[in-house]
This record gives sequence, C-alpha cells and structure tokens, in this order.
Amino acid sequence: MFSARDRNAFSKKSNIPQVEKYSNLKYSHRLNFYDRPPIDDITIEDFETCALDRLRVLAEIESSFVRNRSWEELKSVALTQSEKYLPVHASTAIAVDRDAERKKDHVGHFVLRLAFCRSEELRRRFVKSEMALFRIRWDTDDRVEREEFLNSRDFDWIPVSESEIKEHAEELTAAAGGLKDFKIENEKFYKVKWTRVPDLVERRRVFLKGGMAYVPAREQSSLVFQEFQSNLEKALELTAKALPRLDEDTRIVPILDNLSQGFLAGVSSEWSTASSSESTGKITAEMIDDMARKHFPMCMRHLHECLRRDRHLKHHGRLQYGLFLKVLGLSIEEAITFWRRSFSQIQDDKFNKEYRYNIRHSYGLEGKRANYAAKSCVQILTGETPGPGDSHGCPYRHFSQENLSSALLATYSSQGLTQADLPEILHAVKSQHYHVACTRVFEITHARDGVYKGEGVGGGESVTHPNQYAARSRELEKARLETMKAESDGDIVMS
Ligand code: SF4
Repeated sequence: MFSARDRNAFSKKSNIPQVEKYSNLKYSHRLNFYDRPPIDDITIEDFETCALDRLRVLAEIESSFVRNRSWEELKSVALTQSEKYLPVHASTAIAVDRDAERKKDHVGHFVLRLAFCRSEELRRRFVKSEMALFRIRWDTDDRVEREEFLNSRDFDWIPVSESEIKEHAEELTAAAGGLKDFKIENEKFYKVKWTRVPDLVERRRVFLKGGMAYVPAREQSSLVFQEFQSNLEKALELTAKALPRLDEDTRIVPILDNLSQGFLAGVSSEWSTASSSESTGKITAEMIDDMARKHFPMCMRHLHECLRRDRHLKHHGRLQYGLFLKVLGLSIEEAITFWRRSFSQIQDDKFNKEYRYNIRHSYGLEGKRANYAAKSCVQILTGETPGPGDSHGCPYRHFSQENLSSALLATYSSQGLTQADLPEILHAVKSQHYHVACTRVFEITHARDGVYKGEGVGGGESVTHPNQYAARSRELEKARLETMKAESDGDIVMS
C-alpha cells in the first residue's frame, strides 16, 4: 500500500511498534484477503464443517439483502451468526485459540470458493455476501490491528505529494469537501486507477486526472473493499477454470453440490435427526390436529390438511410428513396410532401389510435400521417435484402465486396474517427466496408472542428446517403460557 518510508511514518504517527506483536500467531491478522489457499492436511469432515459453518453466516447475509434490512440490522444478524458458527477474535483476545478460529475461516472460505465458482449467478451472490462479511469485520476490527493489516499488504496506492495537493487544492476540495471536518491542509490523498474505485467515481467523491482517482485517506475503506471484491472475482474465475479437475473426486463433489444449494434455503443445523421434544415434551397422536393449527409451517400444514381431507397421502408425502412428526417427538407407537386412524378408509389387513412396515422402517426398526433424518428446507425445495395428486414439497415453491395467496390466507388468517402481508411474502417467492417468505410468515403469525419483523426464528435467523419452525413456535407458546400463569399467580407485576 505504502512505500517503506511512508509505512514507517504511518506507524510512528499511530504509535504502532513495527515488530510483530503477535509473532506467536500463524495467522497474524483477523482480517484476511485470502490470497493463498490453505496448505495443511485436513480431514474430509473438517473440510465440510468449516464450509457449512461459514455458509450459515453467508446465507443469513444473503437473506438480509432479500429482506431489505438496513446495514445495521444486517450487521447485527451476521454478528450473531458469526458468534455462533464462525467467531474470529481480535489478536489481543485471550482464552481463545485465535489461530484455530482463523484457520477455520480460511479453510471455509476456500471450500466455498469451490462450491460457488460454478456459475456466474453463484459467483455474484458469493462475492456479495463475502464482501459484506469482510466489511462487517472491518467495521468491528480493532483500529490498531486494522492498521497493522493494511501495513502488511502492498495495495499499490501512490501517495499524492504535498506540492500536487496544493496544485489541485480546489478540485480536491470540490470532490471531497463534503467529508466531515474536511480541511485540505490536514488531508492525505492516494492515487489509484479510477477503475479501482467505481463507487467513489459514481458518487463524484474523487478528483480524476489522467485516468487516476485522487482518493482521500479517509475513504481508504472504499479502496480496500474494492480491492477485496476484484481479487475475489478474479480468483473465482480462475477456480472455475480449474474445477473440472475435481470432477473425478467422488468424496468432494457431492459435498460441493450440497454446499452450492446453501443460498437456496440456508443451512439447517441440529433439526434433522434429533427429536425436538426435549424442551416441550413428547407428543401423542391426539395432539397433532391442534399442533398443526398452531405450530406447523406451510408445507406440513398442507400435508396435514390433505391427509385429513383424503384420508390418505402418497409415498413422498408420507415420507416428508412422517419423518417430520418423528423428529417432533411422536413415538413409534403413537405414529402407528396416528397413521392407522388417519387412513380410515383402509382395512386393517392392507394397513398392516403396506404401511406399518414403512412406518417402522422410518423409525429405524426394520430393514437396514437407519436413523432417517427429517427433510430440511433445502431437501424439500430441491427434492422430487410434486405431480398431480401429490401433497409433498414446499408450497412457497410449488404452488402458483394465486394458490399460494389463497392458501396463506385460509391457513394463517386466524393467526394474524392479512391480505396486506401478501405482497411482501410474494416478493420473496418471486425472487426464489422461499425460506425468506416462510420466515416472514413465521414472524407475522407469532407477533402475539412478541416476535417482531426481522427477528426470524430468533436472533434474525431464517427458517431452514420445518422442525426448527415448529420447535421454535412451541417454545414461544410455552414461554407465553408460563408468563400468563405467573401473572395470574401474582408472581409478575405488570407495569
Ligand atoms: S420454507 Fe421450509 S419450512 Fe417453510 S414451507 Fe418451505 S419447506 Fe416448509
């Protein structure tokens, strides 16, 4: 970025010793331009975990763009997700393994490059989310550490001499004069090719001469962000060219295929196999009608209503709904009771022969005795497209706009959803962000539990799994009932 002389001057001014302060760290800086790929050996599990955890953060950033969240809201959601899945602490942090955190960050970034380099659309979305993550880290970085990071790189910015500043004082002031407390005699400027700062050129915030933009030092962040973006764009194109060599690798390619779906409906976490009944208790066959009405997302509401109406569900519908109910906390005995009663037009013989085995199989009690996972939103969205007579799938994706609008009103109007909410939901659907639409419906229908717009299923998180939706809904109800009970017992005094 600076010449050696300039670098020293900068350090003296900001009182940063030039010796490496954190020489014991393999990764000296929290910020990373990801110039070099990681070279350490890594297990296939770590390869996937690092990428999935990073994708959880990026997918929420992407959802925030779709939801038109303000920069501050987006930052807060991304920081909450980062704290959970991808913490990267300052070099001065104690009691954390900073190198391990930074290695995970580094590996995850490079794995996702492999997953998202494959089409222009994926590259564009990846760059946009990565840019936002970098900006958030830049904003929250310790000032001194940020300067050290800048000094560690050669950005090739040419400092503008004092005589040149004097010569163009008028033009420089006209371009940058809008900056707070701007005084030309106190400012430093750098020259860069104008193409490196298109945002500043577009906003007329720089003086242009001979193809060079004169950038005030205070606009340094624009230069850095632009540099980050163009480096990443170039790197992704190079990765895309090299990718066909990986096609033979049967371990990695399925992981990359799976990761590249991440922007479709986020990354679901612990909701696939674990039962969500621990905090809210086991459920019985009798409870399902009431629970469906209060807690199920649209996909499961639709399946439940079709089952009640037709007294039957086709194979994919039974699979999607059955595994959802299993993870919700329905025991095998209760599941058999539920399905037996639901298929009321079928004789015992036929039920025992054709359905009982499959139900037991899905609980891992027959065949290869596998613990089958409930389907996540991504799996439902990308799975078998429903044909005539089928009820599985995601209504936000698989219903026409008209059918979806009437189904939403019919299903959720008793929980507060109105006609006025539809344009926003349909907007998310049109832009193919189905889980964002579902998240908005969750917020609207749980407003009486104190869920506000943008909160999602907690901390701004989007819906990524039907069981996560239902479990969160049950938790909110439980909390509300407990509060009401405490109030009626006189434990809580309302102000
Ligand atoms: S987004 Fe997920 S939870 Fe919501 S309806 Fe679709 S599949 Fe179900």
